[in-house]
Amino acid sequence: MSSTSLASGIVNVTDACRACDHCVSVCPTGAISGRLGQQHKIDHKKCINCGQCLINCPFEAIGDASMVDQVKKGLKDPSKVVVVQEAPAVRVALGEEFGLPTGTNVKGKMFASLRRLGFKQVYDTEFTADLTIMEEGTELIHRVYKAVGVAGNEQSGPLPQFTSCCPAWIKYAENNYPAILPYLSSAKSPQQMFGAVAKTYAAQKLNVRPADMVVVSVMPCTAKKFECDRPEFTASGFQDVDYVITTRELAGMIKDAGIDFVNLSDEEADRLIGSSTGAATIFGVTGGVMEAALRTAYEILSGQKLNKVEFEAVRGFKSVRDATVTIPVKDLGITLPVNVCIVTGTKNVIPVVEDVLSGKSAYHFIEVMNCPGGCVNGGGQPIRRDA
Ligand code: SF4
Repeated sequence: MSSTSLASGIVNVTDACRACDHCVSVCPTGAISGRLGQQHKIDHKKCINCGQCLINCPFEAIGDASMVDQVKKGLKDPSKVVVVQEAPAVRVALGEEFGLPTGTNVKGKMFASLRRLGFKQVYDTEFTADLTIMEEGTELIHRVYKAVGVAGNEQSGPLPQFTSCCPAWIKYAENNYPAILPYLSSAKSPQQMFGAVAKTYAAQKLNVRPADMVVVSVMPCTAKKFECDRPEFTASGFQDVDYVITTRELAGMIKDAGIDFVNLSDEEADRLIGSSTGAATIFGVTGGVMEAALRTAYEILSGQKLNKVEFEAVRGFKSVRDATVTIPVKDLGITLPVNVCIVTGTKNVIPVVEDVLSGKSAYHFIEVMNCPGGCVNGGGQPIRRDA
């Protein structure tokens, strides 16, 4: 897999292209063009960096811009404290690169290998995915309260609330439906919350200047490389997440370092910002973010536990699914039916967004993930040519 220059976009077509057009069929935004027999090109104004073209190209002719050299340089620099986070979808795919069966959870070996690579603190994005759940769940409550006229919520956003953790979906909305932006949750993604918390709270606790901390993310996602470079993410006064590497790139670093991954003993994440409730483990799968945030909202509003949201056709990965969750609101003495919707695949969001903008939507909370089935099938995951 070739690496390409960041200047020309996160995802690029290389000269191995045989113009088979397969990438055109999986691109959610129509960003790829070219005739048969002619090397294809990506229009970076339309591209949302999701990498679906990359993992589906039969000739491995599409590459993503690599930050691996910068990570290695940081690890060798004694003046830097390099810390790392890994998203939930990485641990269930990394093992495939070492011959383990698909879906094997290699969380403990992943933590151990990151320490062998030289990361000073090994954390877990599940910590900030928990924060995302709390933020998005609380924001939803305020938006619902505003809609039913509860005083003190006038500044809240409109309903429905869309999830905001998928950077490909965010870029798609910005490019194509700017009028929908007030409906998106104001919560940062777990990756970016982690960067902000690392360079403020953790840096202070570790007695490290934010300027001397390097935050690296391991993600199943090529669009996260684009997200970390967005200029708004500088809570500490420095870029919150410095570098993103994909699941594939981490596997490459482990192999290059000669680490015997399969025989490593399991280790735990460092605790400072590495522990979590486990509620965010489902974030990598379609429906996971919404279900976790809705559980929080349900618990706060009703004072009871919601164990599971029963979605229509929950199995089968239908691209648009919905459900109604009835929430008894203790403080108001009323019962609210909350209509939720899950969209997987950005193309499929178009009618949902258009219904919202034309005032026809009955939904209150909508999750959008660009990749089919969610981040487990992201553009940074292992490529299976046998699938
Ligand atoms: Fe990245 Fe997940 Fe969105 Fe795919 S669904 S673009 S992997 S955040």
